[in-house]
Order: sequence, then structure tokens, then C-alpha cells
Amino acid sequence: MGDADAWEVLPFDAGTFTFPDDEPWPGEQGVVVAHLLRAGDGRLFLFDTGIGEGHPALDARYDPVERPLPDALGELGHGIEQVVAATNCHLHADHAGQNHHIPGIPIYVQRAEREIASTPGYTVPAWIDGPGVTYAAIDGDTDVLPGIRILSTPGHSPGHQSLLVTTRRGPVLLAGQAVYSREEWLDRPGREGRSGVRDPARYEASLRRLHATAAIRVHFAHDRAVVDVASEGGL
Ligand SMILES: [Zn+2]
Ligand SMILES: [Zn+2]
Repeated sequence: MGDADAWEVLPFDAGTFTFPDDEPWPGEQGVVVAHLLRAGDGRLFLFDTGIGEGHPALDARYDPVERPLPDALGELGHGIEQVVAATNCHLHADHAGQNHHIPGIPIYVQRAEREIASTPGYTVPAWIDGPGVTYAAIDGDTDVLPGIRILSTPGHSPGHQSLLVTTRRGPVLLAGQAVYSREEWLDRPGREGRSGVRDPARYEASLRRLHATAAIRVHFAHDRAVVDVASEGGL
């Protein structure tokens, strides 16, 4: 692996919210973590954009604290104009809610996810289909740039996807919401996503698939904690 294909992985908070009474962990805070990938030549690749702003029903239900994407990138020393491409782990409003901030930039999405996202109630169409928002439909695993591979990991949603990223230290996995937390990855008690999905078999298959990668470190979309695979292992 040449350094030219190596990326730095920069996680950032892309919003927080409070779980409502009729969901697991009522009253507790939830976090949405997005990831910025930075190449040696300054190019940026974005994995998720975060919770959108100003939706009365979602505001009443989740009391979200949004983090505007330009502010988040600014605090990392960067601007939207450096982003060359992007993807979302899936198109729910907590991960793709600020896609409207990156018009004209290709956003890679599984065709199955694009299709379900147009069904009523799945997401907030005004956020994911704002003016100029540009999707590039893919099917299955796809190398989108040297050092960045999209892995198809359906389960939480039909077109969920994760990223395997080449870094100087080795491959790093951005699991998205294919796994809810560090605890679920390590098969310990804690926040988990498997019991709430419509298709548990696919969820488990995707999880096994992620454990079989050569990743040295794993990041999650709903947990700031990471797993260092060499010292903590997998299943
Ligand atoms: Zn979701
Ligand atoms: Zn989510």
C-alpha cells in the first residue's frame, strides 16, 4: 500500500438527541458520529452528514441538537469545497439529514437504499433531496476511490453500507449502523441494534462479514468509542 492511497480518519459529532419513552434507553442521550477522511493531498471524503434541522415532528420526538455540517468541518480546519465525494451509511434522517449541504458532490448510495428512501415515512425527503444533491447509485461492494471501499452491509436498512479505509497503520472499518456500539461489536451487554431490525438474519450476516475483514480498528455511527481489534479482538 502506498502512502498516496492512505487516508486519515477524523470522527466528528454530527448531532445528539434524546431517546423517546417508547424506544430502548428512554431519556438517555444518543449521538450521531460522522467521519471525514483526509488524503495527503488535502482531498476530503465524507461518510455521513448528520441530523437535519427544523422538522417539527422529529424535534418533538427526539429533541435533537443539530450540528451544522459547515461548522463541524470548520472545526476540523476544512471547508465543504474540499469534499470530492461522499456516502451515507444509509438514508435515514440522522445520517443523511444534511446532504443538502453538499450539492453537486457525488454521494454513493446503494440502489436498494435509494429506492426505499422514496417510500413515505422512511426519511425526510426535503433533506436528502435538496437542490443539487447528486446520488451515484451502486450495487454491492464498490471501490469508490483508491483506498476507500464501500462494503454492502444490509440489515439495519436494505441498502446499508460500511467503509473499509486504507490508512498508514492498516485498514480501518467505519461500520456505520451495521453494528450499534462498541459493546455490540465485542458481544458484551450494552446498546445493540440487532433486536430491533426487521431482518435479523441479514444483520447477523453483515456483522459476521465485518468481523472477517482485516480491519485494525472499528468506528461506529452511534458510539464515539472505537475498537482496537489487535488488543481487544472480535468475536
Ligand atoms: Zn437508521
Ligand atoms: Zn441511525
